[in-house]
Amino acid sequence: MPFAKLGLRSELIEAVVAKGYDTPSPIQERAIPAILERRDVIGGAQTGTGKTAAFSLPMLQLLAESSFNNKRPRALVLTPTRELASQVHQSIRDYGQKLNLRSTVIFGGVGLGPQITSLRRGVDIVVATPGRLLDLMQRREANLSAVEILVLDEADRMLDMGFIHDIKKILKEVPNERQNLLFSATYSKEVKKFCDGILRDPVEVEVSARNSTAERVDQEAYIVGQKSKRAMLSSMIKNENWSQVLVFTRTKHGANRLATQLEKDDISAMAIHGNKSQSARERALAAFKANRIEVLVATDIAARGLDIVDLPYVVNYEMPNVAEDYVHRIGRTGRAGKAGKAISLVCETEEEYLWDIEKLLKREIPVFIIDQNGERREADMDRKPTSKKHAHSKNRGGSANRSFGGGGGGGGGGRGPRGGGNRNPRGGGGGPRSGGGGGPRGGGGRGRNPEGGSGAGAGSSQNNRRRSGGQGNRQRSEGNSSEGSSQGSKPPTFRSKITNLLSRGR
Ligand code: AMP
Repeated sequence: MPFAKLGLRSELIEAVVAKGYDTPSPIQERAIPAILERRDVIGGAQTGTGKTAAFSLPMLQLLAESSFNNKRPRALVLTPTRELASQVHQSIRDYGQKLNLRSTVIFGGVGLGPQITSLRRGVDIVVATPGRLLDLMQRREANLSAVEILVLDEADRMLDMGFIHDIKKILKEVPNERQNLLFSATYSKEVKKFCDGILRDPVEVEVSARNSTAERVDQEAYIVGQKSKRAMLSSMIKNENWSQVLVFTRTKHGANRLATQLEKDDISAMAIHGNKSQSARERALAAFKANRIEVLVATDIAARGLDIVDLPYVVNYEMPNVAEDYVHRIGRTGRAGKAGKAISLVCETEEEYLWDIEKLLKREIPVFIIDQNGERREADMDRKPTSKKHAHSKNRGGSANRSFGGGGGGGGGGRGPRGGGNRNPRGGGGGPRSGGGGGPRGGGGRGRNPEGGSGAGAGSSQNNRRRSGGQGNRQRSEGNSSEGSSQGSKPPTFRSKITNLLSRGR
């Protein structure tokens, strides 16, 4: 169905055409007509599905159709993070450039002055994070008494981040008579309860099951010792010639440390997290988008809302302990119908998190180990999710939409160049699958490291995909009790080999 059939006015159609969109995404196709009819909408959609346009386009149209005779905002969009607020605001500006509507974005971490000035001047649309908006409301600079349309974007995340009280306070100042549009990638009991308290007879738009992106992304996990992760990551990036790699750590400190370590491995990297100033975050994001740095290391919260079109690689350097975060993380790739790749580096203490994730996704993620010959083998794992109760939400339907208007899809395949491709001078041995000089385990893959090319095995990546027949469960590549084989035939030299490789050249 073309955009023109959705009932949008010509200025908006021109704007989406200018953006290069040919056909509405499934969520747009379903949400736009409902919103134009002034219905409340609940969208089961995560970033990457086109949800921003799904609410922005009809919202702009409704605002353009009604009169604006005062300075107070008529639409309020709440988002969990500054980055998302700024991106949503930019989209609203792009889509609405031919309409005579004013908008502003409000978030913390930057001066109050310009935000106050724009509010005083008068705006039709405010895009805001809850904390700063509340601050401005308390200063009597933001008056929400004329809001007709309320959008809650990434509602699940806002609740996760503890914004519930701020949101409740904000909602008290918004007229009861309003249209509510609520988007959430996941639906825990808390989110559902929250939605029920806000929405009135909503149209449910569940075109995007929360794992639809997950299905589009080629996912793999490697069981690897904690201490070998960094060498494995460096090796993968170098030997497989990756660029634009978004790497997740759990902590801000971990993100900083990893970025510094990668730099030492001659990989350009920057960290992005909540302790960084807004300008530092924006600088890092701009450098990453412009391909000036190879790696952006991010924490979950900082990465929310990052819209990097065509991001090819996401690496879970540390596994998230909340399964839903995995979906959000890998949702940074495989966007807008494109294929992407997500690699998880899983150490012993994180295995249960992986099984929790599989449970949430309702599918198994292929798990590999790198054996003592540096070869990649599928690991035969004993999958036991944690007993602890996560806020797992029910799967909202299964109509996975893999592409916008029929494009894209596909699993990201392409295992080719990872085989024996020895790309000196950077790496002596192959990548994680090459079977070359132990790259992923820590020693290989660095031009400076003479040990790099010394491993055994020529390494055909395809051959390495065989099941590890004789290997038992819970194999690991390094740093645990059952490395290599669980049948008591642990090669005596393996651990020391790794340890040597790791200790040299670093
Ligand atoms: P969102 O889910 O809103 O974060 O959008 C994800 C990405 O898809 C953004 O880069 C949008 O610019 C892009 N996008 C949104 N709608 C469409 C469409 N109909 N066709 C192609 N790309 C789109």
